[in-house]
Amino acid sequence: MRITDIFKKQQRTFSFEFFPPRNFDSAVRFGINSGQLMKLNPSFVTVTYGAGGGTQERTFDLVNLFQNQLDFTCMAHYTCVNAVKEKIAYDMRILQDMGIENVMLLRGDPPKNETHIDPNPDGFDHASDLIRFVRENYNFDIGAGAYPEGHVEAPNMDEDLINLRIKVDSGADFLVTQMFFDNKYYWDFMDRAEKVGIKCRIIPGIIPINNYRQIKNFAKISGATIPQQIIKRMEPYKNSPNEVYKIGLELAINQARDLLDNGAPGIHIYTLNKSRAAIEMYECLSKDYKEIKSNFEKSCSPHLPASAY
Ligand SMILES: Cc1cc2nc3c(=O)[nH]c(=O)nc-3n(C[C@H](O)[C@H](O)[C@H](O)COP(=O)(O)OP(=O)(O)OC[C@H]3O[C@@H](n4cnc5c(N)ncnc54)[C@H](O)[C@@H]3O)c2cc1C
Repeated sequence: MRITDIFKKQQRTFSFEFFPPRNFDSAVRFGINSGQLMKLNPSFVTVTYGAGGGTQERTFDLVNLFQNQLDFTCMAHYTCVNAVKEKIAYDMRILQDMGIENVMLLRGDPPKNETHIDPNPDGFDHASDLIRFVRENYNFDIGAGAYPEGHVEAPNMDEDLINLRIKVDSGADFLVTQMFFDNKYYWDFMDRAEKVGIKCRIIPGIIPINNYRQIKNFAKISGATIPQQIIKRMEPYKNSPNEVYKIGLELAINQARDLLDNGAPGIHIYTLNKSRAAIEMYECLSKDYKEIKSNFEKSCSPHLPASAY
């Protein structure tokens, strides 16, 4: 199903991001965790592409599995960094032939240990160029990334926002944000996006913190600010995973509640291929938000075909 068709039916969507498992051990864990999460009947799921050095082929294998064997609406992430136009065209045809209807189109990050990306005369330099190419030549619903605190490379927030508007004008149907830990960044960003004429849905991406050091690292890479009050609460427990988990869960639930209560069009959860925090969030939020409730109740009758277990 196309995600924009899901938007017509669901005022708020609840979606999960996964990354392709890297080895046998993580594939087994992935199966257990994604199986648990799929019972929640998310609006859609997404699979990252080459993030953090992950292999790109496995993204296609995984979206194929989600979409065609498990019958979920799946969005394939795709990046154009270091890719030539012919390869991009080839990959888009593979996804189209696979029956994938939704793609999240991104530029991608510089290769590991490099800080900048050289111009790509045979490909695309910005996500907006990739989006325009795919919009003109293929028939996908297109998502793109947005950065409430500004993208790390952007000279300033205003220019970043103008570049975001170019992405939307080039054909993005909706945006999903980078993680953030203080909702004020999202609301400020929504105001500024509206002022520059961005009208599509901007779904907030949130991450339940369950590993303090790892999150600090993510925040460093992505430029997301970890507010002082979160640091103060977590720092004393940084060596107690259970305590960090409990605090992280409480913060994520409160963050999601505040977003939903104030009109956010859903929540996209960066699962990091783990299930426990997302399930506990769902259980808690389903008491108050009817969209989650109906999704959650549906999960009582297993969504997965018996062959998928
Ligand atoms: C929801 C989400 C999912 C992601 N999934 C993945 C993934 O699966 N795999 C992965 O490798 N990475 C992923 N990323 C990370 C992403 O690839 C990086 O943040 C990357 O550095 C920027 O990608 P972009 O698509 O936002 O790039 P762009 O939109 O091209 O922006 C990159 C920088 O260039 C500037 N810029 C954009 N257009 C122009 C222009 N026309 N002229 C001048 N400057 C311009 C922007 O202001 C920004 O500073 C994801 C990010 C998000 C938010």
